[in-house]
Amino acid sequence: MRLIAVALPPNLPKKWSKVYAGRTAALAAKATHKLRTEYLEKNASWGRLKSWLSNLSHEKCWYCEGKSRRSPFDVDHFRPKLGVTVDGQPLPGGFGYYWLAYEWWNFRLSCQRCNRPEKIDRTTRRGKWNEFPIESEHTRCAPTSITVDQEAPRFLDPCVQSDCDLLAHGIDGEVKPASPPGTWEHERARYTIEQLGFNDWNVPEDRKRDWQGLSLLVKLAGDAPPADVVTHVSRYLDQDQEYSRFFRSAIGTHRDKQWIEALL
Ligand SMILES: [Zn+2]
Repeated sequence: MRLIAVALPPNLPKKWSKVYAGRTAALAAKATHKLRTEYLEKNASWGRLKSWLSNLSHEKCWYCEGKSRRSPFDVDHFRPKLGVTVDGQPLPGGFGYYWLAYEWWNFRLSCQRCNRPEKIDRTTRRGKWNEFPIESEHTRCAPTSITVDQEAPRFLDPCVQSDCDLLAHGIDGEVKPASPPGTWEHERARYTIEQLGFNDWNVPEDRKRDWQGLSLLVKLAGDAPPADVVTHVSRYLDQDQEYSRFFRSAIGTHRDKQWIEALL
């Protein structure tokens, strides 16, 4: 997970302001959960911001930093719009953050692995979907009272640097909590890693294999690498590199070499 920073003003596509105003007004006029659900299912206009969201992350999933090669990205609502589950159990009354359905700052570009529900076995499920636990239900946001700033989400947010920093990366390719066990920070990282399946679907093995090749190159290059080797290694740190946070950590294990230190 690498920080996604949106410069303000956000420079949204020109037509968005008109769409946003119309959809938000129409949605506010729907008095019941059923009517709001029908409206939102027919007016998924957030798809119009997919290219804008994708440009911000250099065509990578905001959560896992993976590139979605064979399936389109989803626009995830960080705070789910139509219903919220906590550890698989829906909140009463069909509660969802419907009033945030068209707010660009609630959107996260997500690969389908991170976003959609998938059953791994009889008891294990992956995917964010409608999951949105917070530290205390007493601070659950509401349209007219509690604000989002008062909530402490369990999911790590790729738009918050201190959340991204709660994930560590081993050269075995696995993502791990950076904080000690027993802390809220550790729990948030553990939960996000498991729920979004960061270490599933052979991804750690792929990362480890790529790193082994790169690590060998770094070792062979020694302390005086040719310029093209430096260029090659530096590409793994670029913003558009898949899993660049992992490669930054892995390359950092060679900090004893001056040219590596200079790259980092
Ligand atoms: Zn993802």
